[in-house]
Amino acid sequence: MPQPLPRTLRAAASALAVSLIALTLGGCGFVPDGSTPAPAAASEADLGDDDGYIPDGESVSPNADDLPTIANLDLDLRTALQRAAADAAADGVEMFVTDGWRSERYQQLLLDNAIRNYLSEEEARKWVKTPEESTHVKGLAVDIGPTDADSWLSQHGNDYGLCQTYGNEMWHFELAVRPGETCPAPLSDASAG
Ligand SMILES: [Zn+2]
Repeated sequence: MPQPLPRTLRAAASALAVSLIALTLGGCGFVPDGSTPAPAAASEADLGDDDGYIPDGESVSPNADDLPTIANLDLDLRTALQRAAADAAADGVEMFVTDGWRSERYQQLLLDNAIRNYLSEEEARKWVKTPEESTHVKGLAVDIGPTDADSWLSQHGNDYGLCQTYGNEMWHFELAVRPGETCPAPLSDASAG
């Protein structure tokens, strides 16, 4: 009668299986701790929720905490935004986020596209910052829509510490003052800051 496999041998066999799986994954460039940066995005088709990607013309609820574009925002900004959105809703104004946190490669793609569209890096930088400079990449900025929500937030945002940062972007808000303080005058455009 064949003996069952000794316990130690079975443990060794399963340990071998685990290391074989790890070896296979390692060969595919899979890094479980995410220390390898995602490859550059050639187009928006390469981007997904993990980049904070929101397609043009779409928006998400400020309360969509399951989406990285909201979840990766600075906690103070996210809390202020969600309070503001609740109060705006009580005033009959629905507030949406058209851009929140973005990955570095998403920001780089936006900059590349802007340089192509404006035919000049200088002009593009008035609208889109580099991944190193962007407050969206740092989780410190949100773009709000639609227009009536922008107007509501320009009027009441400072109650929550939220201020319009750039004169040419009525949709872009950052936590810039303590709640109730007056917002500083917006900079002319993103290249001025
Ligand atoms: Zn913005």
